[in-house]
Amino acid sequence: MDYKAADGLQDLQYFGEYGGVNPSISDSSTYTFLSAKTMFDTFEGNTEGCYLYSRHSSPSNLYLGEALAALEGTETANVTASGMGAITAVILQICSAGDHLVCSRTIYGGTYAFLKNFLKKFEVATTFVDITDLDAVAGAINPRTKMIYCESVSNPLLEIADIKALSHLSKKHAIPLVVDNTFSPLSIAPAKLGADIVVHSLTKFINGSSDCVAGAVCGSKEFCLGLKDVNQGAGMLLGSTLDSLRAASILKNMRTLHIRVKKHSENALYLAKDFEKEGLRVMYPGLRSHPGHRIMERQMNKEYGFGGIMTLDVGGVNRANALMERMQKEDLGYLAVSLGFYKTLFSAPGTSTSSEIPLEEQKSMGLTDGLIRFSIGLDNDIHRTCERMKDCMTKLGILGG
Ligand SMILES: *Cc1c(COP(=O)(O)O)cnc(C)c1O
Repeated sequence: MDYKAADGLQDLQYFGEYGGVNPSISDSSTYTFLSAKTMFDTFEGNTEGCYLYSRHSSPSNLYLGEALAALEGTETANVTASGMGAITAVILQICSAGDHLVCSRTIYGGTYAFLKNFLKKFEVATTFVDITDLDAVAGAINPRTKMIYCESVSNPLLEIADIKALSHLSKKHAIPLVVDNTFSPLSIAPAKLGADIVVHSLTKFINGSSDCVAGAVCGSKEFCLGLKDVNQGAGMLLGSTLDSLRAASILKNMRTLHIRVKKHSENALYLAKDFEKEGLRVMYPGLRSHPGHRIMERQMNKEYGFGGIMTLDVGGVNRANALMERMQKEDLGYLAVSLGFYKTLFSAPGTSTSSEIPLEEQKSMGLTDGLIRFSIGLDNDIHRTCERMKDCMTKLGILGG
C-alpha cells in the first residue's frame, strides 16, 4: 500500500482566526452577504467559499470533512448527523423508484432494515448476496441495478469484502461501489482500492469516545456537492446535519485515531490468538483460520493491524449473556452496543444490533445466538485482561478447567 492515510491527516494544519492551533468553532446558523447578487449566486449553486445556512455547510463541518477526505483519500467529504444519515442520503441520492441494489447480506442492522423494509415504500428493491462470492454478486446485477453496497469488514460476522474485485465488477456495469468503512478506518482505504463512495459512522472508532453520533460521506466533489444541492440534494433536503460544536470535538478526537487503531488492533490480535489456542470459537480477520484473512492482508495498511473487532461463539444465548454480565461485573468492559470506545464493549448481535434480520436469515448467514461481538478496548496490559476474561469463562464452564 503506498497510500499513507495517517500522513494525510497528520499534515493537515489549521489556523484559528486568532492564530489558535484549533480552528474557531462556527457558532452561526446563518451568514451575511455583502451583496444580494452573491446570495442569489449561492442559491444557484455557486457556493465555493460562501456560507449560506448551516444545514448546507458550516466552517466547522468543512474542517472535519477535510480531515475525513484526507483519511480516505477522496476529493472531499460531507459530514452528517449520524452514520445512518450518511448511508440513507447516499442511497436515496442514487436510487429512484423501480431501481435495484446489490448488497452484502451481512451488514449493519439499520442499513439492512432501511434497504429491506423502508425502501419498499419507494419501490427500490435490494438483492442480498454473500459478498465474498463474486459470481453471486455478478449474477444479482440487472439493468436496473444502481449500486453495489457493502462493508469492508462486515458487521457482525467480519466477512472481508474484496474491494478491488468488487470495483472491477461495478466499473464493468458502470455503477458505483459504495463501501461502509466504519469497522476499519486507516486499516483499509476503500477509495484507494477502487470504491467510488466511502461512508462512515463517526460514532465508532473515528470519534472513539462514545459521546456522540455522527457520520460522513467521502467521495468526489461532484457527488458530495450534489448531496448538498439546495434543490436536489438528499443531504440538504433530508436534513441530517451535524452540529458545529460536535464537528469540532470529533476533529480533535481524530488526531489520535492512528494511535488508537494500532492499540485496538494489537489488543484484539492478542486476545484472538490466545482464545484460539484455548480452543474457543473466535473469529478475527488477523487469524489465519479466518476465511477473509488473505484478502484482508492483501488490501490492508499493515501498520494499523486487523482492527479492533472480534467475535466469540460461546455456543448459546444463555452462556453468552452470562459471560457478558460477568465480564461487566469484573470491570472488563461494558455490555453495550457500539464500537471504538477505550473500554471493551460487548453485545450479542443476534438479539441486539442485528435483531432486524429475521431469525431464519441470521441462521443461513451463520449468525448464531451464542455469538458475542467484542470491540476491544485500549487496555494497557492486555495479558492481564486476557487472563481475567478467561477466568470468567472458566467459572461459567465455557472454558474447561
Ligand atoms: C453504527 C454503524 C452504522 C450506523 O451509524 P450511526 O452513527 O449509529 O447512525 C452504520 N454502519 C456500521 C458498520 C455501523 O457499525
